[in-house]
Amino acid sequence: MLSVETAIEKILSEIEPLGVERRDILSSLGRILAEDITTSRSNPPWDNSAMDGYALRCADTRGATPEKPSQLKVIYDLPAGSVPLRPIEKGEAVRIMTGAPVPEGADGVVMVEYTEKREGLVLVKKEVAPGENIRKKGEDFKEGDVVIEKGTLIRAFEVSMLATAGRPFVPVYQTPRVAVISTGDELVDIEESPSGGRIPDANGYALCAMVRECGCTPVHIGIARDNPEDLRSKLESAVSSDCIITSGGVSVGDYDLVKDVLRDMGSEMKFWKVAIKPGKPLAFGLIQGRPAFGLPGNPVSSIMAFEQFVRPALFRLSGRKEVFRRTFDAVLTGDVKKKPGRMNFLRGVMEYRDGRFYVTPLEGQGSGMISTLVRCNAYIVLPPESTGAKKGEVVKAQPVDWSLFYGGRPFL
Ligand code: AMP
Ligand code: MG
Repeated sequence: MLSVETAIEKILSEIEPLGVERRDILSSLGRILAEDITTSRSNPPWDNSAMDGYALRCADTRGATPEKPSQLKVIYDLPAGSVPLRPIEKGEAVRIMTGAPVPEGADGVVMVEYTEKREGLVLVKKEVAPGENIRKKGEDFKEGDVVIEKGTLIRAFEVSMLATAGRPFVPVYQTPRVAVISTGDELVDIEESPSGGRIPDANGYALCAMVRECGCTPVHIGIARDNPEDLRSKLESAVSSDCIITSGGVSVGDYDLVKDVLRDMGSEMKFWKVAIKPGKPLAFGLIQGRPAFGLPGNPVSSIMAFEQFVRPALFRLSGRKEVFRRTFDAVLTGDVKKKPGRMNFLRGVMEYRDGRFYVTPLEGQGSGMISTLVRCNAYIVLPPESTGAKKGEVVKAQPVDWSLFYGGRPFL
């Protein structure tokens, strides 16, 4: 059976980012930059004052103390947003505000707290060192620098940079539209009350939610019944999307139906089944060149398979540089058993204590157990050859979201 790593490689080798569109910087939030951003500006644009105070020639303050202040002539006021009227000469100072350009001739700024105002004059009560309280031109970034790299997720921080760098519009990758289809005669949609052996369609909603968490746009197609006609008609309405996800109908007995319909539609199956638990009966192929994932039907299996295989694919499609979740070493707080052969993902609770991560396996790892999904904040990752691990052993754990990093009290 295909290893998890090989399956991921095969999937990613088929996927390229979508096309590029232009966005204004505010609506670029959460999008992926499609080009390196270079700037035609330096920041700061000129040497400027880091403090409210007086710009001066440091040599004029040599030996100054509170008892023996230097006395300088104030030649003008310079608020932020103004330009210096003229250079300063020996014995002169300029009243300067934070952010204002440092006048030519000045090589330091003294904070207002160390000065005393007199009629047309200022008394400076300390020696000022060259460069003191001056922010140098280009110390943040220089004209021509790459300030954000292609493939970066645009957060508020990048928006700040784009605004400063003079880029009101930016090229971003198009947002993938991802079709989600549930399959099964036993499924009812959530408004209907399930009776007579029927169950609610959990996966359609869960997978749409996961698509959205990846920054993509879900296209909720709904439930396809277990017959070729319905499956085909639902798949046909899905092929205008950039990626197609189905759940159910890929386990041993059912797979023939999905496979036959896909083949009839001219799709190319790349593989079926991966050495992973849960999530083994994963099918991957291309329908009219678009990636298509047949996820298992059990709610937990479909979510796990999405996590490990679909998420990186959607990130690649979105143009992201980094597509994988990281795993961390964590100390196991209870024993876990496993049969060798498949890579296992167990739902767990991860926490950070005394400088280390700990992870607790949850009771109830069955692939229909949704309550343990709700309680988990991490997956425990056990390699294929492993036969389990004991309390106190270090294992790999993968946080599933930011909840691990929230809680407690500030700074404690
Ligand atoms: P299947 O692979 O179609 O045989 O489905 C495996 C198991 O998952 C069965 O017990 C199905 O009832 C269940 N299942 C399939 N699709 C869904 C779904 N969309 N929501 C909840 N359970 C499902
Ligand atoms: Mg089914």
